[in-house]
Amino acid sequence: MEWKYAWLEQEFDKLDNRIRFIAYALEGYVRCEFKKELMATEILRDEETQREYYPDDPDKVSVHQFWRGIDFRSHDFTEDEINKIVEFLNSNVYYGKDGVVVCIYHDVKGIHLHVQVGHEDKVRLKKIPTNI
Ligand SMILES: [Zn+2]
Repeated sequence: MEWKYAWLEQEFDKLDNRIRFIAYALEGYVRCEFKKELMATEILRDEETQREYYPDDPDKVSVHQFWRGIDFRSHDFTEDEINKIVEFLNSNVYYGKDGVVVCIYHDVKGIHLHVQVGHEDKVRLKKIPTNI
């Protein structure tokens, strides 16, 4: 794992264990499949920063405020690789709530890969299809 800022390495140790586990799995995936490294760009977000990101949505909260989210730089990856990363996480890991996914490729203060888990202990690996 690479860190955009040195403090992210300390923040990573405080993350929800489930998101750390997913981050390690993703790190292995991008190394094996693309021979590339993951770079974390944001973990903990304070209230002030959250308001700055979403000035028009004062009630909006983020998993980043609760140690359940991590962002990774996406511009080291091709569009095809990004699609595979999103597919790898979302087809294997259930967020813990229907309609919400673990990995989102989006543009909030710059385009990046956002990885998250739900607050309840319902995060789980999805079943492998039996028809193959
Ligand atoms: Zn994020």
